[in-house]
Amino acid sequence: MGKGCCACKAVSTGVFKANGVRFYRFPVDVKKREAWVRAVSDAKGTKLWSLKSHHSLCSLHFISGEHSADPRHPDFAPTIFFKDAKEVLRRGKERKNRANAREKKKVCNDLGSFIYCNISKDNNN
Ligand SMILES: [Zn+2]
Repeated sequence: MGKGCCACKAVSTGVFKANGVRFYRFPVDVKKREAWVRAVSDAKGTKLWSLKSHHSLCSLHFISGEHSADPRHPDFAPTIFFKDAKEVLRRGKERKNRANAREKKKVCNDLGSFIYCNISKDNNN
């Protein structure tokens, strides 16, 4: 049995595993745990959501992909919530591809070389 996220449908197998999604147990630290519970409760729109010991949150809910021990850090508690975890992965991949394309274009401009641009395009799969 793989782990699952209590705030979305991510599980520690399949496409989520392939994309490096990690799972974090709720913190032992009371302040931090309460901040997590509050964030998930707000996201689910229910005040009665109660924490079970097996509950985990996945890395998709944290800006940096992991949580921080620093209460002033935005990743002290989860801040990113969504309906469809697979959609998030898909969009993340598109973002990465766009960033790669931008980087290649920049190299082309810097070099001012058509040859280099064409090589880059051929490799842009
Ligand atoms: Zn999740």
